[in-house]
This record gives sequence, structure tokens and C-alpha cells, in this order.
Amino acid sequence: MLNIILMGPPGAGKGTQAVKIEQEFSLPHISTGDMFRAEMASGSELGKTVKEIINRGDLVPDELTCEIVKARLSQPDCANGYMLDGFPRTLPQAEALEKMGKEINRPVTMVINVSCPDEELKRRITGRRVCPKCGASYHIIDMRPKKEGVCDLCGSELIQRKDDNLASFDTRLSNYYKSTAPLIAFYKERGLLFDFDGTIGSENVKNEIFALLRGK
Ligand code: ADP
Ligand code: ZN
Repeated sequence: MLNIILMGPPGAGKGTQAVKIEQEFSLPHISTGDMFRAEMASGSELGKTVKEIINRGDLVPDELTCEIVKARLSQPDCANGYMLDGFPRTLPQAEALEKMGKEINRPVTMVINVSCPDEELKRRITGRRVCPKCGASYHIIDMRPKKEGVCDLCGSELIQRKDDNLASFDTRLSNYYKSTAPLIAFYKERGLLFDFDGTIGSENVKNEIFALLRGK
């Protein structure tokens, strides 16, 4: 069973790989960041609660985050596998996931950890532009859209995420090292961790991940 977690610092390329994996292996792509952004866009109570936290680059409280993940993982489409992107991000979240995995009989079977040096992360995040409609991601220097400011895939106007500025990036990166990086040891201990180098080009990263997933 492919019950996967995608892990890595902001800008490592998790989202890019998630889209490729989703298409190839037909796994539901569960991105807590996307779920929160959808709540923010709809103006729901949850969206209002998390907006400030997210824009400054901080983490949404564990309890709130675990609740939305449990509801999502319990959906019927996750019975034959799932892919978590951006969750868990803290030790309490990883423990909660382990517990809910047992309860709903959908335990994590593999953790894909993509790494990348800080300087490169900063360059990628501050130059990133995203499509608010379809989620496609671009870069002002190394992944330009065909027409400036416009999504190749759906024609929408590209935006810069509110948390893709230098100050929020610094907060996200330090939260990553403080809260998320310890999960590497957590999953290594459980024999679930697989490491990938996020700097070898997204096609190469994809090929390595696909090889691992096909072997399972
Ligand atoms: P990135 O990986 O590029 O930093 P995401 O789109 O995964 O961005 O998440 C954006 C923001 O949403 C995070 O900076 C955080 O504020 C919030 N968020 C997403 N997932 C979680 C989580 N598991 N726990 C707490 N906050 C989260
Ligand atoms: Zn688009």
C-alpha cells in the first residue's frame, strides 16, 4: 500500500513532485497548505483563523491541523493509498498521525524526504510565482511561463504567495529546522525514511522517486 508522506523544507520541490506522483500513481494528494489556502480564499471561519499565521510563515496549531487531516484521511478515496504533502510538520502531528493511522487502519508506509541547501531554497521561494487557479508553480528566472505573468496551463494571472517574501521565508525555514527536521529521525527509527537530493533537477528527482514507488 502506498500511504506516503512527502517531507522537506519549503522550496525543496515537494509540491512539484506531488503533482507528478498523483498523476502516475493515482493517489489522492493531501496538501495541508492547499487546504488552508482554500479556506482562506473562501473566507470561512477556519480561513480567517489561520490567515495571519500563514502569511507571516508560522505554523497553524497542531490540534486544528490534525483535525482537518483526520477528516480527509478518513474519506473513501484514501482507502487504496494517499499522499500527504506538508503534514506532519511537528512531532505532535507525527504522533497524532501514527495514532489515527492505526485507528482508521491506514498507517503510513513510506516517507519521501527531499533535501536542498538553504541558499537555494531562498532563491527558489523568493522567485516563485504560482497559479491561484490550478496550483502550477513557476520561477521568475528558471521556470518562466511562456507569457509573462500568465499560467501556461490555464491562462490565469500568476501571483506571488503572501508568505513567499524574505521575512516569512526566514520564519518558515527556522520553523522547519526547529519543528519539522526532528521528524527525519522519528521516521528513520521506524524504517520508513527514504532520502532524495532536491538539487538534481525535478525530472531526475521524479525518476528516482518513481523507481522507489514502483519497487514497492
Ligand atoms: P511550504 O511547504 O512551501 O512552506 P505549504 O503550502 O505546505 O508551504 O504550507 C503553507 C503554510 O500553511 C505553512 O507555512 C503553515 O503556516 C501552514 N501549514 C501547512 N501545513 C501545516 C502543518 N502540517 N502544520 C501547521 N501549519 C501548516
Ligand atoms: Zn493555472
